[in-house]
Amino acid sequence: MEKVHIIDLQFKQIPNSIATFLVETDAGPILIETGPESTFETLKKGIKSLGYEVEDIQHVFLSHIHFDHAGAAWRFANHGAQIYLHPKGAPHLSNPDKLWNSAKMIYGEQMEDLWGEMKAIPPSQLISMNDGEKVTVGSTTLTAWFTPGHAVHHLAWQLGSIVFTGDVAGVKIDNGPVTPPCPPPDINIENWKASIDRILELNPTMLYLTHYGTVTEIASHFEELKLMLDDWAVWMKGYYEKQVDPQEVVPLFISYTQSQLEKQGLSKETVEKYEKANPSWMSVAGLYRYWKIKEKAAKTQQ
Ligand SMILES: [Zn+2]
Repeated sequence: MEKVHIIDLQFKQIPNSIATFLVETDAGPILIETGPESTFETLKKGIKSLGYEVEDIQHVFLSHIHFDHAGAAWRFANHGAQIYLHPKGAPHLSNPDKLWNSAKMIYGEQMEDLWGEMKAIPPSQLISMNDGEKVTVGSTTLTAWFTPGHAVHHLAWQLGSIVFTGDVAGVKIDNGPVTPPCPPPDINIENWKASIDRILELNPTMLYLTHYGTVTEIASHFEELKLMLDDWAVWMKGYYEKQVDPQEVVPLFISYTQSQLEKQGLSKETVEKYEKANPSWMSVAGLYRYWKIKEKAAKTQQ
């Protein structure tokens, strides 16, 4: 069995918030997720500490193209790596201006500080995967599974009985509860639950979460995640229907989720990690959009 190493990117100096995974194959190391470009130096150090150089990584597997997962992919492409991803993600990485500028409208001045730099990847190095398609490196085989719900361009990567779940298995830090990251624009609760069922059908024995680390109690993990998805979506629906300004909802949602975490006995420090890894304001925006799209769809059906 291949050895999987977790590299902690120490995003914003916070341990256990964003991971990348280095898998040793008999044809050299491969990487699953790259993290943001802002933590590339930390990633480089992590790769070195395992006895490798950045140039040794010739295969990079992305769960999706959000900056915290794929922001540093171009750095590896610069050294000739092939980048494997969902077909809907590929155009954004070959021409990242649109992705960058729309994020800049949200993050403003903080953009570079949070995410670093983003450069285009030549289309010839972006390998679009079909659902169920396999990639073989040496004697290691990874299978791509379409898993929308968090993002339409989301893949889970299966390696034997292990699944690298990106964001579709939620966020779980320091033995806290599992919570769903719900940023705009693609959140779809029904699709997300269907994606969970797809992963369950693979009968995995271990999940690797980008935020953060391994999960072995898989059935209860996903059950908890489904409950949380419904809980957050229903909570948000109430405010959406009353047309409360999302800006006003953010502090309410922060205190709602924090009390959920505190009820589980989490320390203040861990509660803060959750907010950093899965910001409440993003989930307010994402779930508002989810309800808006649903409302529109219902109207056109009438
Ligand atoms: Zn993420």
